[in-house]
Amino acid sequence: MAKHKAFVKKEKCLACGGCISVCPQDAILMISSKAIVDNELCNSCSICVKTCPIGAIIWEGT
Ligand code: SF4
Ligand code: SF4
Repeated sequence: MAKHKAFVKKEKCLACGGCISVCPQDAILMISSKAIVDNELCNSCSICVKTCPIGAIIWEGT
């Protein structure tokens, strides 16, 4: 079973860019003012989940 991957709840994202600047994998893109995680690149480090000021990033499936 694959590890959990980070997932952005689009309706919550404020497009602050914080998660993008901390992701060591460059796995997060900003599209139409919403952060989106590329699951192929995400290594589940959890830095973005801890960084998002409003808790908009969760683990997929949780
Ligand atoms: S969990 Fe880590 S690798 Fe995955 S998107 Fe967040 S910061 Fe990037
Ligand atoms: S840190 Fe949170 S609010 Fe900021 S761009 Fe990323 S998901 Fe959106």
